[in-house]
Amino acid sequence: MLASIVPGMDRLEWSDDDAPKLAYRAIDPATQFFECRCGKPDCALSRLRPFREHIKALYESLSDAIHLGRLKSEQPEEGWEGVLFALQMAASIEDAFADTSYVTESPDDLYCPPPWDEALINSEIAAKYVAGLAIFNFIWSAYETTVKTVTPGSAGGERTAVRGRRLADGLRHIEADIPELSKLYRMAVYACRKGGHLDAKIDPIKDTYGLSGLAAAAELCRIYRNFIAHGDDVVPKEYDWRKNGLGTGNFVVYRMYGVGRLLLMLIQAFAYHSLSDPDARMPVRSSRLDGEDSELNGKQMFLELQLIPEDERAESPQNAEVETSQGP
Ligand SMILES: [Zn+2]
Repeated sequence: MLASIVPGMDRLEWSDDDAPKLAYRAIDPATQFFECRCGKPDCALSRLRPFREHIKALYESLSDAIHLGRLKSEQPEEGWEGVLFALQMAASIEDAFADTSYVTESPDDLYCPPPWDEALINSEIAAKYVAGLAIFNFIWSAYETTVKTVTPGSAGGERTAVRGRRLADGLRHIEADIPELSKLYRMAVYACRKGGHLDAKIDPIKDTYGLSGLAAAAELCRIYRNFIAHGDDVVPKEYDWRKNGLGTGNFVVYRMYGVGRLLLMLIQAFAYHSLSDPDARMPVRSSRLDGEDSELNGKQMFLELQLIPEDERAESPQNAEVETSQGP
């Protein structure tokens, strides 16, 4: 009954101590996919900000640099403000609700509806798919606007995504400063392949075109976005979905975030490239850095923003526990 008034109430569960908790949120795959499973202290994943915080950090860095007048723009009519808007929308999504039983597949379902469990899992998949797709589309929009802002338009009307790849190819010199990129690229490729229907399009990136680094990332993003935009993707079925997150269906949603992360990294690289003076230090807003060291250079501001700052990492619960056990 409550579920018909408050969407998502059918997810409410009771923990052992009778506290209410949600069985899931639609944006959970954004964190699940990037979870470190190896536990090694130097693991690239354990140093990454959670997906939503990554978008927020990018938004704040761009916003600070824009207000200080440090970012060059080739096409003022597109502009960095449009990038900010799309990023804010992507980060704003907290949850989504779906009820797939609202529309039934066949008239038979009216007399013999699918089991309750199956209806619930289908609605969970749909909610996660909808949230992932909405977030991906906003990040894609931010990426396209970035490309239009930092590259001059060509007379031949070259497509924006192709312009983006060409620009990315010209930024090989900064790839050494973003060592996480190769891991994130491999993860995105893995998720794209596992989700299905993309192998034939992914193979040529390396085999035919010999792309690597940022250019390969830009090409993967272009391929995946076209795949989505042309309606070739399908919502996963419940028999492909696993509670442990390892079903092929789960990867259909994971790849939205896997490719989405690459788009964020590309936007960062393009913003860094557009700085009027990358070595100049800039004051950053206090939510990004506390204390006296509130100035960052261009590299710290744009090429390292995906990383959890050192001091925050030291304060993580895992490390705090170690400290306590070694205490007096
Ligand atoms: Zn790990």
